[in-house]
Amino acid sequence: MPFLSFAHVLELRRQLEGTRAEVVCLGSEDYAASIRRWSDTCEKEAGAIVRVTTTPEVSEVVRFCRKHRIDFVVEAGGHSTTGSSSSHGGVVISMASMHKVLTDPASKTVCVQGGATWDAVNHSTAPYGLAVVGATASHIGVGGSTLGGGYGWLTGQHGLIIDQLLSVKMVIADGSIVEASQDSYRDLFWAVRGAGQAFGIATEFVFRAHHIPATVFGGLMHFDLAKLPKIVNFANQFHERQDPNSGFFFGFTVRRPAGQTVVMTMLFYNGAHSQAEAFFAPILSLEYLANRTAMVSYAELNAMANVDPVPEGRKSISGTNIMPPFTTSLVRELWEQFDDVIKTYPRMGDSALVFELLPYSKVVQVPIEETACANRGPYYNVGLILCWYDSGLDAKMHALQRQMISKIKEAQQDITEDHVVAYANFAGKSSLYSICWPP
Ligand SMILES: Cc1cc2nc3c(=O)[nH]c(=O)nc-3n(C[C@H](O)[C@H](O)[C@H](O)COP(=O)(O)OP(=O)(O)OC[C@H]3O[C@@H](n4cnc5c(N)ncnc54)[C@H](O)[C@@H]3O)c2cc1C
Repeated sequence: MPFLSFAHVLELRRQLEGTRAEVVCLGSEDYAASIRRWSDTCEKEAGAIVRVTTTPEVSEVVRFCRKHRIDFVVEAGGHSTTGSSSSHGGVVISMASMHKVLTDPASKTVCVQGGATWDAVNHSTAPYGLAVVGATASHIGVGGSTLGGGYGWLTGQHGLIIDQLLSVKMVIADGSIVEASQDSYRDLFWAVRGAGQAFGIATEFVFRAHHIPATVFGGLMHFDLAKLPKIVNFANQFHERQDPNSGFFFGFTVRRPAGQTVVMTMLFYNGAHSQAEAFFAPILSLEYLANRTAMVSYAELNAMANVDPVPEGRKSISGTNIMPPFTTSLVRELWEQFDDVIKTYPRMGDSALVFELLPYSKVVQVPIEETACANRGPYYNVGLILCWYDSGLDAKMHALQRQMISKIKEAQQDITEDHVVAYANFAGKSSLYSICWPP
């Protein structure tokens, strides 16, 4: 695909005259900032970035690209590390200015524009004592995380993010604006819930919200390697209990400023402090290197796993699924591999390997064929984020990531072929989406 011509940029600007959409191109003052992404690996020289402000503007841009056969992509939170929200030479439809959120406490529903982050959602719902099942980190986009399925701290109680979705307004491939729900465009609504990035541009989501108390329990803890067997033991107990109010992440990260690999846990409990303390007693009673657990608002809790302040640099997320029981030997082997990478390569301090235990009973209550999300099963996600700076290490980092993920997959004889064992939002491969609906 040739680089977008300046004539096309001018024509697009003319077509959007009278609207509030902004067309940014090479030479514009904020071009460099507009192509920046959470990971530097995803920075591509776009032909133009169109900062849209309304659904009809999105439709206008789609029609323009279609007429002139110009490639386009959509950017919401910009947190994917596959490059799928950036374009070399094509048009990026930036949803960054479409970040409004409206909460209706009477119907317990929340209307979210396609470019909002979970942070914005939490701040809108909190005054009404409500929360939406969002991702476990609040700085990521509602757009990308919802369309791929979506797991969050409230998944144990309410299921996936898409299980809360009541309707979605979309601009589809021919530029028309449709609203998909259980009552209209049902096939599109099915596809949007799990494979959504390929079916249109979501400009407004309507979610079901749930009551949340003023404070919940949670936070990060760090431990030395000697505590690993007890933490793995707790993970197996956690799995047996399937308490819907809970969430437990464990794995490895790097402790600052010393830079040594540590065992990390992230605890979550939607309940009173005493209940949370009793639930997590085997973890809370361990001697720790750091303990940042507390009763906090849901919005604060949701921001604790953010990789903030967003460091510059190159990042890659990949993952797979894991079915308990967890064994100390496997987790220990992964520790050694992770630690070796951290010691061998410079400035990898924001990296982490995390086993994400969110009770799945509610997730598997929805039959697998009911939505396009094929990752519903009696297992958990494992996410591996590698962060580095030297572009010369890109291939090496991806190879190391594949090696670690393969080790987990090889140990998973029990996940049957009925399950996809892959979560779209943690897909490590570059996935180029092009909108394909209507067929
Ligand atoms: C630190 C961190 C923590 C994470 N935690 C979780 C988690 O707890 N649970 C979870 O489920 N996932 C999690 N993820 C994965 C996350 O869901 C994906 O990276 C997701 O793609 C990010 O969405 P985004 O809108 O920020 O990214 P973007 O890069 O903007 O978009 C990702 C993809 O979605 C498409 N897209 C985005 N918005 C729209 C839209 N409105 N309409 C059509 N297409 C759109 C883009 O074109 C692109 O293909 C995490 C990621 C990170 C980096």
